[in-house]
Amino acid sequence: MGLDHGASRPGSRRVLAWLAAAGLALALLAATGVAAASVRRAPASSRTPLAGKIIGIDPGHNGLNYTDPAFLNHKIWNGREWEGCDTTGTQTPGGYTEARFNWNVAMYLRADLIKLGARVVMTRPDNHGIGPCVNTRARILDRARADVSIDIHADYGPSSGRGFAILEPVADGPNDKVINPAIRFGRDVHATMLRYTKVPVSDYYGHNGYVSRNDLAGLNLTTMPKVLIECGNMNNGSDAALLVQPSVQRMIAAALAAAIIRFLTAR
Ligand SMILES: [Zn+2]
Repeated sequence: MGLDHGASRPGSRRVLAWLAAAGLALALLAATGVAAASVRRAPASSRTPLAGKIIGIDPGHNGLNYTDPAFLNHKIWNGREWEGCDTTGTQTPGGYTEARFNWNVAMYLRADLIKLGARVVMTRPDNHGIGPCVNTRARILDRARADVSIDIHADYGPSSGRGFAILEPVADGPNDKVINPAIRFGRDVHATMLRYTKVPVSDYYGHNGYVSRNDLAGLNLTTMPKVLIECGNMNNGSDAALLVQPSVQRMIAAALAAAIIRFLTAR
């Protein structure tokens, strides 16, 4: 099957080779049959396609947010309106928290990106704290002058609904210059999630897994290309069963790394 969507993007096989060279996503590679030996023969420079790049990762919420409702509820300016600092995030029916899921995917992604040569900026240092607020998270990544950033979340939707959704910014002033590249990055994330993970496109939210949002600080205040991904619906039994698995979290991280490579190495 044709793996590439155009000459301007690195082929999926080449992206997989980069991921393999970085020692990533072994299950993914086994599934696609990329030969490890051919990857090891690749020159060193081709193993670090993200050298010199700065990538921002915002793992949504925080593990102890639930302990401080007054802090969570204090109002911040999100670029268009006042809203709460943050929320606790959701959880699966079995009690696996979104904050933990977001953090685990972020850690796998961070490790992948560093192996690929990037510098990674995180919005929180662990999953045992409170905050920061969503506007502060946006500022941390803006000040780092990241080349591209991703907000990692999982959704609480109707229990019958499945799938991932890409939340995209709407022009509001501060983010005007990054709307088009953010939408392009969103398409890359959409494509790699479909290709490399078992999570389907959302059947209950947005259109074909895309949603424009003008009410989120992370998207309103961004000065670099950024999207927010809801990696699945924690309130759906099938999605929840996937999202709690470390192997699935790794695959989602690999899909996000592949999207970042596609986005930043497009010519
Ligand atoms: Zn969330």
